[in-house]
Amino acid sequence: MSILETKDLTKKFVVKSGLIGGNSIVAVDGVSVTIDPAEIVGIVGASGSGKSTLARLLVMLYRASSGQIIYNGVDITNLKGKKLKEYRRNIQMVFQDPYASLDPNHTVEWHLRRPLLISGDKKDIDGRIDELLELVKVSPPSVYRGKYPHQLSGGQRQRVYLARALAVNPKILIADEPVSMLDVSVRVEILEVLQSLRERLGVSIFYITHDLNTVGMVTDRIYVMQHGKVVESGTTDAVLNNPADDYTRKLIEATPDPYKRITPRQA
Ligand code: ADP
Ligand code: MG
Repeated sequence: MSILETKDLTKKFVVKSGLIGGNSIVAVDGVSVTIDPAEIVGIVGASGSGKSTLARLLVMLYRASSGQIIYNGVDITNLKGKKLKEYRRNIQMVFQDPYASLDPNHTVEWHLRRPLLISGDKKDIDGRIDELLELVKVSPPSVYRGKYPHQLSGGQRQRVYLARALAVNPKILIADEPVSMLDVSVRVEILEVLQSLRERLGVSIFYITHDLNTVGMVTDRIYVMQHGKVVESGTTDAVLNNPADDYTRKLIEATPDPYKRITPRQA
């Protein structure tokens, strides 16, 4: 069974335009997606296609205009209060900008200790901090625990942020363009970490990107979005090697390097 599923999910924004009143934008338009436990699913599409809005709908930062979100078989579209808080812990988001995501005044250790303290089990927090840093390959932990964000590279910051998201034991990660601001050489390292997380923790990951090259490296399946709609979906190999949709074909033609699969490394 899917761990998370959307049915005909739609988000409309009303944009005020001067005196004439409102203009309505359908940012996400009847989107149905699913993700299984430990699956990595790509959401790919050009800028403005609705990817980030879909991500915000999934973590319930936005309320859907219509459609449903189903988590572990339960319709949670209108979840409120304590139950909503609980759900939000299970689904964590990682954003594009590793420079904005960490507090410059605090150490790596501080960033991990806080969510660990909040998330229940307070036993052996120091051990858990080291474990998290090892998981995201910020290693050895003893060297990095006391460092401040400005002492880290962009890739290291993004991995520390990832560790922070993992501290509350989420079932699902939503990574919205997590490597787009990083050097090409660093991207693969982060994608390898994502692969290893699914192997070791069984976490499900939505990997959101405009970049077909990186999406091919790590995902099992892909949804291609255009103008708020899913225009194509299927296994990564099927979509990238044998696209059915014209728009997907154009995206692939515009991708300079052919993708290479990352073979998951055993932990
Ligand atoms: P992507 O992440 O694929 O670049 P977005 O989800 O950010 O796309 O945006 C999809 C469309 O919705 C765009 O046309 C964008 O301008 C519009 N949009 C996104 N967020 C808002 C908002 N808060 N208010 C109004 N329009 C928005
Ligand atoms: Mg976006």
